Amino acid sequence: MTDYQFYIDGEWRNASSNEWMEVKNPANGEIVGRVPRGTADDMNAAVAAAKAAFPAWNETSVEERTALLKKVRDGIADRQDEIADIIVQELGAPISLARSKHVQQPIKEMDDMFDDLENVHFEEDIDGTQVVKEGFGVVACVTPWNFPLTQIERKIGPALIAGNTVVVKPATDTPITAVLLAEICEEAGLPKGVFNLVTGQGSQVGDVLTEHKDVDVISFTGSTEVGRHLYQHASFTIKKLILELGGKSPLIYMPGGDLDYAVKKSMDTVVNNCGQTCSALTRLLVPREELEAANQSILNYYEKNVVIGDPTDPDTVVGPVVSERQKETVESYIQKGKEEGARVLVGGGKIDREGHYVEPTVFTDVDNKMVIAQEEIFGPVLCVIPYDSLEEAIEIANDTEYGLSGAVVGPSDEEAIAVARKIRTGSVYINKSGKSNKAPYGGYKQSGIGRENGRYGVQDYLEIKSIYK
Ligand code: NAD
Repeated sequence: MTDYQFYIDGEWRNASSNEWMEVKNPANGEIVGRVPRGTADDMNAAVAAAKAAFPAWNETSVEERTALLKKVRDGIADRQDEIADIIVQELGAPISLARSKHVQQPIKEMDDMFDDLENVHFEEDIDGTQVVKEGFGVVACVTPWNFPLTQIERKIGPALIAGNTVVVKPATDTPITAVLLAEICEEAGLPKGVFNLVTGQGSQVGDVLTEHKDVDVISFTGSTEVGRHLYQHASFTIKKLILELGGKSPLIYMPGGDLDYAVKKSMDTVVNNCGQTCSALTRLLVPREELEAANQSILNYYEKNVVIGDPTDPDTVVGPVVSERQKETVESYIQKGKEEGARVLVGGGKIDREGHYVEPTVFTDVDNKMVIAQEEIFGPVLCVIPYDSLEEAIEIANDTEYGLSGAVVGPSDEEAIAVARKIRTGSVYINKSGKSNKAPYGGYKQSGIGRENGRYGVQDYLEIKSIYK
């Protein structure tokens, strides 16, 4: 077992309390390692270091900062196997997914961000006024466990390039990936205090960040519940907030579209990463007369694709969920669905093996008013919801407090786009479209504030000054 340290002001340190937190492998309960349980004093030290480093860092050129971030990107690429292995151990992600979505994808996102920087106007002339954009100061990056590297990469890349310094507080279940990233930042030569990492419990150290007078921006990805809490606490010092929160995203299948593809599109997001994906398309809307055909297509998909197993096995598609607590949460929702009268099409039972495994479960004939259709489950659970007209489908799709993602599978791209325009979410896939990393990603309604990725991601971290000439 390895004891990891956190990284403040260019130094590796233990917690001032000398307390530790164990990180356990959700597949077998083994202890992967220990990280320091940070205290308010540690958090204050990290903020002080970031504050002290800010003026010099903010005065470097965008080119200099970008060159250093490219070294960070290369460091991730060099250590990608090691990072993927840690993500398997601390999250329980299957190794094939860990290598592709958890490590190669964030590398690609960084490349696309570098490429898109030419579209960020760090200085512009508006009616004779010199408009200068620069860092805000100290950005606190608070991240969840579901994509331990991606969630941090999406924040520190743009925040640092914009001229800010950062204090990262990763999720308690997956902090080791963040420690590896800190090592990479050190090796890349980021000046001391520019990147700081403090591990610890959100409930203990979170409020220190949100109420700290020297933290200028809170960039948070996580649950809407915690986001709401941060929103309130950040108000004391009028901080800027960037919030990437929960989702309950719909996929509307229109008559005449490719039904098997619609099923695959939503089921992939429910099964991969065990449904622990904020943008998962967990509500599949189908015309009532095609409900049985959709059910059959789901059963076919399930039989072919749902391979439950050891996450270190390259053939495994479904590993454990991240923790005992998460398993209990997901199972309580499955129980709730049964009590609400939704029909279990497949799954819904227990998996008889060591580890926090949850059987992927599909409820069919679900009413959108049910709790399982309204609340984010964050596990491998799909709700199939019948509709009687396209207008009703759009109404159901929008009848949620969330607004993160969505999809429309229809007979033609034009018809699908016409429906996509009416969906109140930050992004919508249509038919077989892929995702661009340069396009903005974020939520409407209670799914968040702000956007990540590409030029919009960088812009959110830029403060704006008008110099009148
Ligand atoms: P969470 O909200 O419980 O925790 C997220 C982070 O906040 C963790 O680091 C946690 O320690 C910290 N935290 C907890 N309480 C805090 C407090 N009082 N003050 C400050 N920090 C605190 O979320 P989670 O369970 O780690 O992740 C799952 C959630 O994240 C889901 O709701 C999911 O939809 C959401 N998510 C959203 C996106 C997106 O881009 N919109 C992406 C991934 C995950």
